Amino acid sequence: MKKSIKYFPTILWLLSFSFSIHLIADEQSSTPADYHYQGELKVDPISGFIKASWQIDVLNLKISTVRFFLRNTLGHIEVSGSSILNKSISQFKGMENFWAIDITLEKNVGAQHISISYDGILIPEPMDNKINSIKADSIELNVDSLWYPIDATFSKTLTVDLDIEIGKDWVGVSSGEFSKIDKGLNLTNHHAALNIPFALSNSFMITKKYGFTVYDLRNTSKGLDELIATASFCKKYLDDLYGTKQKLPSARLLLTTRQSSGYARNNYIVFTDVSNTKPIPQTKFVCHEMAHFWSSAGKFDTVDNWLNEAFAEYVGIMAVRKRYGESDYNKLISGYRKQIKGKELSAIWIAGETERKSYLVQYRKGPVALFWLETTLGRELFGKFIKHYMVNSIATTPELISALEEIAGSSVTERFVSILGEYSSNGDKPRE
Ligand SMILES: [Zn+2]
Repeated sequence: MKKSIKYFPTILWLLSFSFSIHLIADEQSSTPADYHYQGELKVDPISGFIKASWQIDVLNLKISTVRFFLRNTLGHIEVSGSSILNKSISQFKGMENFWAIDITLEKNVGAQHISISYDGILIPEPMDNKINSIKADSIELNVDSLWYPIDATFSKTLTVDLDIEIGKDWVGVSSGEFSKIDKGLNLTNHHAALNIPFALSNSFMITKKYGFTVYDLRNTSKGLDELIATASFCKKYLDDLYGTKQKLPSARLLLTTRQSSGYARNNYIVFTDVSNTKPIPQTKFVCHEMAHFWSSAGKFDTVDNWLNEAFAEYVGIMAVRKRYGESDYNKLISGYRKQIKGKELSAIWIAGETERKSYLVQYRKGPVALFWLETTLGRELFGKFIKHYMVNSIATTPELISALEEIAGSSVTERFVSILGEYSSNGDKPRE
């Protein structure tokens, strides 16, 4: 991973774990997917050996050339399809950890099908982040391990129907639906999503409470009740504020044994070991992840991803204020200011910019800008603005700016736009 990071910062964002990729919008929408993946996956949990075969239907007829990435620990790659004009499997500089499977398709022949099969030990050495793993009693996979061929733009959507051969005792959790089949499990997701994340285990401790289902991989139930209480708090807090059109679906919570790297995909939320998690960070994390149910329309690989993250993060902080009071809220805000203080950070957004911004810009500078806006507008008016953003799935910064102008007038809007455009942070001093 390290090597490729240097050359491909975009990949770093997409594959980075603590800063999870949030794909809720795509999973909520009924827009047709670019691909449908029909597959069979055989996993040997003991050795880590996997064998997979896919039929990938190219539903987006504009796609005539495609590059898929696949982890280079996999081999025996076979690619076929009646409308394939050219295909090649290669590695290139900076991306030695991945195969690039390049395919050129015939044009104007209607639906296209690509068959790809491969096998191998997917993760011979533990990956840095420990998210992706195949163990005797549990398996967790997401896009970071490139266990299936994924469109190298990382922006195409897919639906999936996957049979997993793994044995009878295993249970699965994902944003899609699992069902038992003779040889193991079937995973189906009809909603267009950006990837195929899931976890399997033959020893989950499963708890159902208040509409949540918790899949616990730990040997303890420490922190479980607190987590469910937090999830209930966040669901009510968010539904009350933003649930006018759509309320949160019941969530599936996966509890892992690792100490860092949680993420969420739609209603599938993955946690680190919560045994000793403090209530304030937990409230912020859970409410942030759940806020993505609404805050996710910005295109995730562009500058507008700051909307998704900064708003979700600020909603998480407001939830802390609601649950624990002003002083903890203020501590969080001043912590954020400190984190960005004196750092040379790019602007949050400048007209014409397209590139996705850094973690600190999206998750820290963005919320600090929203803090300024709330302080300036007052809570009531800001509440109206943020509700407008959340409920109407605002997807671009220009849309956000015109919404703000309508709600708050042009003078505040101009100042806000200039704050978005500031290059280095003003985290050290509160703005007037
Ligand atoms: Zn997020």
